[in-house]
Amino acid sequence: LTMTTTLRVRDLRVSYGPVQAVRSISFEIEPKAIVALLGANGAGKSTTLRAITGLQRPVEGEIEFEGRSISRITPMQLARAGIAFSPEGRRPFGEMSVLENLLVGAHTRPRDVAKKLDRIYEYFPRLKERSKQISSSLSGGEQQMLAIGRALMAEPKLLLLDEPTLGLAPLLAREIMRILREINDEQGISILIVEQNARMALKLCDYAYVLASGRLTAEGTGGDLLKGDYIQNAYIGN
Ligand code: ATP
Repeated sequence: LTMTTTLRVRDLRVSYGPVQAVRSISFEIEPKAIVALLGANGAGKSTTLRAITGLQRPVEGEIEFEGRSISRITPMQLARAGIAFSPEGRRPFGEMSVLENLLVGAHTRPRDVAKKLDRIYEYFPRLKERSKQISSSLSGGEQQMLAIGRALMAEPKLLLLDEPTLGLAPLLAREIMRILREINDEQGISILIVEQNARMALKLCDYAYVLASGRLTAEGTGGDLLKGDYIQNAYIGN
C-alpha cells in the first residue's frame, strides 16, 4: 500500500511578462516529509510558491495535491483544501491581538479551537504570554511564530513557508527550525520550506531541491547535500 504523494509539481513554467522566473521544474513532496527549496535571490523560489498557491497562474505545468489537480485553485480555496501558506515577510494583521490573529486562522476549520490554541501555545509559549498583545508590537521572531501558529489553526496537511527565519538571529532561527521539526513529527504535517539559509534548512529537511535561474540544478537528502559540493560552492556558506 502506497500513500498518495502529497504534492506533485510537473513541468511548471511561470513567467512575468517576458521574464521567465520558473523554467519547467518538477518535484514532489511525500506524505509527512519536510522538503526544502533552496537557491539564491531571484532563483524562482517565491514564484514557485505563488504558483502552488494560485497567486500566479503558470504558463504551463500541472500541480497536484493528494492526487487531485490544484492547478486552477484560488488562494481562497487553498486553506479548505488543506494547504496553509505563510508568505515571505509575513506580517500578521497588526491591529489585532495575537489571540485574534490565531482565531482568524481557524475560520476555515472552526472546531476544537481551544484544543488547537493549547497546542500552539505549547509550541510557542511566547505567544501565550503575549496573547492579548497587539501583533504589530511583536518582535520579528514572535511575528514569525504567530504566522506559523495561525497557519496551524487551519489544520493543514501541507504547510508552505517562505523564508520563516529571514532577519532572525541565528539562535532564534534554529529554535524555529526545531519547532517545525516537532510539528512535523507530532502532527505529520508535510512542510515545504523556502530558505536562503541553506545549511540550516538542510539540517532540518528530509529532502531538498536547489533552484538556480528558474531551473532545478541539484536535489537530494539534506544529509547528502550538506556533504556534497553544493554547500561548499554555495553563495551562502552560513
Ligand atoms: P528571493 O529570495 O529574492 O525572493 P526567489 O528565489 O524567491 O528570490 P522570485 O521572487 O521567485 O525568486 O523571482 C524569480 C525571478 O522573477 C526574478 O528574476 C525576479 O526578478 C522575477 N520576478 C519576481 N516577481 C516578479 C514580478 N512581479 N514581475 C516581474 N518579475 C518578477
